[in-house]
Amino acid sequence: MEAKTSRVVKNYKGTQLHAKGWIQEAALRMLMNNLDQEVAERPEDLVVYGGIGKAARNWESYDAIVKTLLELEENETLLIQSGKPVAVWKSHKDAPRVLLANSNLVPAWANWEHFHELDKKGLIMYGQMTAGSWIYIGSQGIVQGTYETFAELARQEFGGTLKHTITLTAGLGGMGGAQPLSVTMNDGVCIAIDVDEWRIDRRIETKYLDVKSKDLDEALKIAHEAKVAGKPLSIGLLGNAAEILPLMIEKGFNPDVLTDQTSAHDPLNGYVPVGYTLEEAAKLRKDDPELYVKLSKQSMATHVKAMLTMQQKGAVTFDYGNNIRQVAKDEGVEDAFDFPGFVPAYIRPLFCEGKGPFRWAALSGDPEDIRKIDEALLREFKDDEHLCKWVRMAQEKIAFQGLPARICWLGYGDRARFGKVINDMVASGEVSAPIVIGRDHLDAGSVASPNRETEAMRDGSDAVSDWPILNALINAVGGASWVSLHHGGGVGMGYSQHSGMVIVADGTKDAEVRLQRVLTTDPGMGVVRHADAGYELAIKTAKEKGIKMPMLQQ
Ligand code: NAD
Repeated sequence: MEAKTSRVVKNYKGTQLHAKGWIQEAALRMLMNNLDQEVAERPEDLVVYGGIGKAARNWESYDAIVKTLLELEENETLLIQSGKPVAVWKSHKDAPRVLLANSNLVPAWANWEHFHELDKKGLIMYGQMTAGSWIYIGSQGIVQGTYETFAELARQEFGGTLKHTITLTAGLGGMGGAQPLSVTMNDGVCIAIDVDEWRIDRRIETKYLDVKSKDLDEALKIAHEAKVAGKPLSIGLLGNAAEILPLMIEKGFNPDVLTDQTSAHDPLNGYVPVGYTLEEAAKLRKDDPELYVKLSKQSMATHVKAMLTMQQKGAVTFDYGNNIRQVAKDEGVEDAFDFPGFVPAYIRPLFCEGKGPFRWAALSGDPEDIRKIDEALLREFKDDEHLCKWVRMAQEKIAFQGLPARICWLGYGDRARFGKVINDMVASGEVSAPIVIGRDHLDAGSVASPNRETEAMRDGSDAVSDWPILNALINAVGGASWVSLHHGGGVGMGYSQHSGMVIVADGTKDAEVRLQRVLTTDPGMGVVRHADAGYELAIKTAKEKGIKMPMLQQ
């Protein structure tokens, strides 16, 4: 067993190269960025976000990855198996420099019990989505998706704004922390419950959350006053969601909008059962993991039952991608799926056009590079009002964590177009160092997750996971800088398979060709996946953009 370490990862910045090429350097800096104190939730344990989503299996593996990336040639490819570097092969300059497979298990073994057994033996690692594939950029990475979700909800339910409404949610972790800011960006009031005071403080420090309260009555009073005044405000309320929601019902409070982003996908590490302080929970998790999971699942059932009651009383309720409905259903809450998941409710039309959480990060560490790219984006897409509004708002309200980065939901065609703009800016020296371009696995064509991204597909193909595999393969063929294939991200073991891709714009002509290929096929797989499932918007997009689909009726 390795001794507990309090290591601090210090990332490289600036224009000086340490590896043998910018792609290797990019992988190195993005790995380090995932574990930056400002970015990761528990960097001392290599945990980046989402329960126990890690960037490397252990510190020994981390050191070996760093050493290998520093020595890796421009015609070699490093293979990572669940956070451990296992081989370096000769490949060629256009091949990915790194290929990663994280947390994959043969389907009949794909459950948490088996995963934990292997994890204990040091044979596997939970990669979540962007943790194990080195393109996590902190809460900012999710904030636009969360903003777009609440904006669409506001359009559908409240005439386009959350003004004079209260949104109730729980979970202020790496991803969930984006909720309060997204609600206030849509002019609403948000109460976000978290059982861990440190998480509340962290979100206040990073400007994602406005105020903290430890008292339910006080939080309800402040929220009510802000709602009446039409003033955007977010309140972090200390407490356990499974305890607070029933109390709110007792007190006669009902929110206008209701969701949850605790790490319910992982009953052992991501959810605290009712009646336990954080310290007591940590002790029980270690002493009696079976009892912990049992109590945690029971609390989730209570939590979902309260959500269903609030829904019946009129709250617009949706699942926010943490699989809490499935756990509650397994615990006997028959109507757990009465509220929809956020993808079918608000996001799928975007996926049909290949739109999703596209992002880029400045390897220089210089915020000025991102500002210049923002300006280029505003010029290039000046007719897209929604996009321009987003960029201006992001500039004003989002604090960078780690390497400066920007999240921007671009679709098919626009990603490749903007990839070239960025590469040209690197080539001309307008930005000071290469730019890393990537995306979340929660994207249009890169994930099979029947309780989340592929819930309620029109043709019933929710669980077909050929799609993320094809997505990874074509991105590797096209020359993405690193490509990953994961299992269990977002919703836990057995419930998802997904792939990631990252590509470096280093200003070379070679990069320009690779960017054109990969930034076309990657969102293109989103259009194809949805067109194949029968979505008219995707079929129209495929036809208009000239995507070749041999069996699509022309
Ligand atoms: P995280 O593990 O960093 O944070 C979870 C938070 O929940 C912690 O702050 C924890 O203290 C809190 N919590 C746990 N039990 C609680 C309880 N009973 N009451 C109140 N608070 C409690 O996780 P994260 O990265 O923020 O992700 C949250 C969930 O959202 C995960 O399941 C993740 O897979 C999912 N997710 C959703 C999306 C999306 O777009 N919807 C994207 C990524 C991840």
